Amino acid sequence: MGDGNEEQERDKKIPSERRVSRRQRSPVRIFLILSASVLLSGIVAQQTLRLFALPTEEAIVLNLALQIFLLLPIFHLFFFRILVHYIVEFGRSTADLQDNAARLAAIVDTVFDGIVVIDERGIIRDANPATAKIFGFAVAEMIGQKVNLLMPEPYRSQHDRYLANYLRTGETKIIGIGRELIGQRKNGEIFPIELAVTEMYLHGERKFVGTILDISKRKEAEELLRRTNEALEQRVQQRTSELAKMNLDLSSEIAERKLIEKKLELQARTDDLTGVCNRRQFDVALEMELERVRRYHSTPLLIMFDIDHFKQINDVYGHQQGDAILKELARLVSQEIRVNDIFARWGGEEFILIVFENDLDGARLIAEKLKAAIEGHAFPRVGHITCSFGVTACGAEDDASALMSRVDKLMYLAKERGRNRVEVQ
Ligand code: GH3
Ligand code: MG
Ligand code: MG
Repeated sequence: MGDGNEEQERDKKIPSERRVSRRQRSPVRIFLILSASVLLSGIVAQQTLRLFALPTEEAIVLNLALQIFLLLPIFHLFFFRILVHYIVEFGRSTADLQDNAARLAAIVDTVFDGIVVIDERGIIRDANPATAKIFGFAVAEMIGQKVNLLMPEPYRSQHDRYLANYLRTGETKIIGIGRELIGQRKNGEIFPIELAVTEMYLHGERKFVGTILDISKRKEAEELLRRTNEALEQRVQQRTSELAKMNLDLSSEIAERKLIEKKLELQARTDDLTGVCNRRQFDVALEMELERVRRYHSTPLLIMFDIDHFKQINDVYGHQQGDAILKELARLVSQEIRVNDIFARWGGEEFILIVFENDLDGARLIAEKLKAAIEGHAFPRVGHITCSFGVTACGAEDDASALMSRVDKLMYLAKERGRNRVEVQ
């Protein structure tokens, strides 16, 4: 703090002293004071000596001595003070300069950045300890060498061309801001640097000052970060593809399950042997249709039929052949009916249909048509078979069991009445 105050005081003083010295230094002023002093001292000396009657020679000597005596304080006042002032100023400036130079040297010597000064020929003229540390050379080893000592090939020859071109045309731009380049240490190790170059004139000589930063640690960290990111990205990608595969597997499993469910659902609804609806599905369909009858007064019609003397077929041709007849019969009937008709195997060799006609006559016609188709069809090995039919309409007052019982009875009536016929009620 004390030093700071002193400095401030000194700074305050210096301008006024400088103002005084400038005034004193003015040649016109000096000339005028000098002339006036000489004139005045001459007059005073002459008048003083007139009081004494002295011989001429003595009077001249005394006149001169008196003049000098009179002029001495004036000279002392003006010229001696100036001289002293100059001596003091010179001493102070020299001390300031030395102080500044010491400060600058301390800064340059302690910074972490390398500072290199080269001349127009690319010769290192100065370098700080940080440069020596970065490149592994002693400062003395570098001074006097070409600066491209600090860079690997092909940058060495490039730098020579670069400098020559700059000096010749001034076109190549000096690197002002930091730019990433490659440096080479004394042991041959190549490493990344950041270089900034400024141009200056010192004692009329053109010089370039390079500030060098060893960025190998930063680059290593950047590289590590890049690799880590890459690895992370790879892991994410791998995990994503694993998840995508899992997703795909899951989707295909779901699709497979859906297919199985559909199959099971179909199996639950269809008869294994013939592939038409089974009795359970038929029951559901019948309930739905009876609901529609009650709600919308629709008139679905029921046709039940049973193979005549099927036991004999089994007995003669075997049970397997009997199965084949059942399958063929179901296929044949399915061909004859409409898509929205409901056709089911009721059990054994009995089948049942819900058809949608206007009235019983319409249903009878369908039953007759089916009877004729079956009768006329040649079944493999067995040849011709017949069926007996019962036909009835679903009334609003009917429930499923009453309806089934009625159509069953009609079918047995057809059996009783000679088989291969249709009974309607
Ligand atoms: P009806 O004219 O009076 O109907 O005489 P039927 O011989 O057809 O009637 P019955 O009730 O006496 O015999 C039915 C036969 O149908 C007995 C049974 O072995 C046979 N059957 C029932 N279900 C199947 C089956 O799934 N496959 C085979 N092959 N035969 C069956
Ligand atoms: Mg039968
Ligand atoms: Mg039967």
